[in-house]
Amino acid sequence: MSKPLHVLFVADCQSDRSAVIRQLRRGGYEPLTTCVETAAAMRAALQRQQWDVVLADYTTSQFSALAALELLHQIDLDVPFIILSNSMNEQIAVTAMKAGAHDYVMKDNLARLVPAVMRELEDMQVRRERQQRQRHLLLLHQITYAAATILDEQAMLNALVASVRDLMEADGVTILLWPEHQGAPAVTAAQLSRFPVQPELGAPWITEAVRQAGIPLAINNVLQTPFLSQQRAQQLPFRALLAAPLLVTGQKLGALVVVYEGARRFVAEEITRAEQAAQQIALAVAKSQLIVAERRQRALAETLREVAVALNSTLEREQVLKLILDQLLRVVAYDSASIMLLQDNALQSVAYRSTHELVQQATTLLVNELRHVQTILLQRRPLIIADTTVDARWILAPGTEFVRCWLGVPMLIQDRIIGLLNFNKITPNFYTEKDAQVAMIFAAQSATAIENARLYAQQQQYAAQLEVRVAERTQALAAANVQLQELDRLKSKFVSDVTHELRTPLTNLQLYIDLLETGDAERQARYRKQLKEQAARLAQLVTDILDLSRLERPMGTASFTAVDLNKLIEEVIEAQQPRADQASLSLTFVSDKTIPPVMGQRNQLVQVATNLIVNALNYTRVGGVMVYTTGDAAQQMVCLRVSDSGIGIDPQEKELIFQRFYRGEGTRHLSVPGTGLGLAIVQEIVALHGGRLEVDSQVNVGSTFRVWLPVAEMKTIPDCFRNEI
Ligand code: ADP
Repeated sequence: MSKPLHVLFVADCQSDRSAVIRQLRRGGYEPLTTCVETAAAMRAALQRQQWDVVLADYTTSQFSALAALELLHQIDLDVPFIILSNSMNEQIAVTAMKAGAHDYVMKDNLARLVPAVMRELEDMQVRRERQQRQRHLLLLHQITYAAATILDEQAMLNALVASVRDLMEADGVTILLWPEHQGAPAVTAAQLSRFPVQPELGAPWITEAVRQAGIPLAINNVLQTPFLSQQRAQQLPFRALLAAPLLVTGQKLGALVVVYEGARRFVAEEITRAEQAAQQIALAVAKSQLIVAERRQRALAETLREVAVALNSTLEREQVLKLILDQLLRVVAYDSASIMLLQDNALQSVAYRSTHELVQQATTLLVNELRHVQTILLQRRPLIIADTTVDARWILAPGTEFVRCWLGVPMLIQDRIIGLLNFNKITPNFYTEKDAQVAMIFAAQSATAIENARLYAQQQQYAAQLEVRVAERTQALAAANVQLQELDRLKSKFVSDVTHELRTPLTNLQLYIDLLETGDAERQARYRKQLKEQAARLAQLVTDILDLSRLERPMGTASFTAVDLNKLIEEVIEAQQPRADQASLSLTFVSDKTIPPVMGQRNQLVQVATNLIVNALNYTRVGGVMVYTTGDAAQQMVCLRVSDSGIGIDPQEKELIFQRFYRGEGTRHLSVPGTGLGLAIVQEIVALHGGRLEVDSQVNVGSTFRVWLPVAEMKTIPDCFRNEI
């Protein structure tokens, strides 16, 4: 079968070209010819259609082969150009070849024509392919250049789809990107299409196929693909589709999708070309993602710095906790979040915040019941539970049913975990490693802020305690000072009282000595008696004062021993019996034999009993004095009771009688000798023994004095007492 051959003759058209046509037919061509005689006609013919070959007579009447070559160059057209000539010398041939003719054939030797045409057609084919390759290279270069030089990501992607459309001679080009978060649909990053925008290009049937295979996908006819239904395919405005993955070091970033209106048969070269373009696009996307990431990182660093400043703006724990949850939203998204602090083996939620109306109760969780928490505490690293419904580590705590994706981050102070930050999302597969990293930095800052607040609170508490202690001390010092002043005053009063009290008997002594020397001789016996009484009083005063001053220098309880009170009182009674007899008073002792020994200084206790019994005898005119001992097991006390039927004590004097040197009104009429120190000494001794002194009295009826003394501890009781108890 002969091949059609479009031949443009440049010649005098009336001349005979049948020999040439015949020759071509013989060579297996079916020439479709047109003849032009002028430059204008040739230009029109060239614009009208494509020509396989131009056969030009070297000279014509109006035109020439050289002028025709010139015209071809002018319009930059590459068509095989063969000169036909009747006579041609070498020089003409060289001139013609230099002007761009591909060959020349002598009209009288047309046998060369067909081989010349065939060779020129082949050359032409090679030249065309080379040109196309160059064009593709140029377009690929353009893509690389755009990828490398355009900073704005969207502008760059737009330039890329334009270049790819030229490169692939396609009807539509789309760049699809897969978002970072798993499971999210592909995003159309840029599209240039003859058809209305094609969002369905991002549909899983294309993207998943490319994503999973990681190699190009060529669909010659969408009506015949197993990926989608006939009905769906019919609706698409394109029939052929070529998709290549955007791969950078094995990572799949997205896909380049090229579509053609009609069905076609993709050849390997086209698929390779699409892959090359996809590779450049992938690099460009990776680069711009890096830039974005870097920018994001910088923004994040700035945010974290601001967060740190904010967290350090207060030391009040509640405010710090609230700030943490507020600031947290700036770095990691959550539907709800909580801060849990670790104490012993339990986690207690101390702050909670939800961006929705999700309510979570404040809870305390036991660490050994929660595997996901244990993992964090053990590894000291964040943990993501991508989908709580399928992860066996997730244990559903009450109130957390809404949580589908969970991120837990330990809060570390140096190496110590003080708690956890919990992030909850109602969508599964939400949190990424990047979130975990950022949250970890944030958690460290939070831990420091919480620790600072804790230290601050501790310091505040310590300061408050100190303040209380200082106030207490100040108060104690003030009281001690008052006491010291009072003591000082009492001392001064005591000295002046003593001086005063000593002066009375001394003055009396002087008086009676004078009377003895100068007075009435008959009265001398009376003066001597007075002298004796006054001397005795002076002696008693000195003894009492000495006793008192001794008591003021307490010896502590070192000299205390277990004392049998019954025995002691019997001795005192025996000593005072003559005094009672002289005053015609009874003196009776009723003892409780069961009382345990008391703890005390024997001589001092003798003095207590003596003073009380002597007073009772002194201030009683008729009747007598009863002395009792009783015990109080519950209080571990023993009581000495001295009751008389004497003059009694006026209620107004009840408090005064224990004061030093105080002597009751009644003593004046009775002329009872005394110093006013007896009861003061008793009171002092009882206090030193940790005991209690009470008085009940009724004027003209009698008085009762009770002395309560603590019993001796068993271990201090000498063996001689043991049998008695
Ligand atoms: P003195 O007996 O030397 O006066 P005291 O200190 O022993 O000093 O007693 C103080 C005062 O208490 C007495 O002056 C007296 O008025 C009163 N008083 C003490 N014991 C009795 C008593 N048993 N009955 C009545 N008054 C008493």
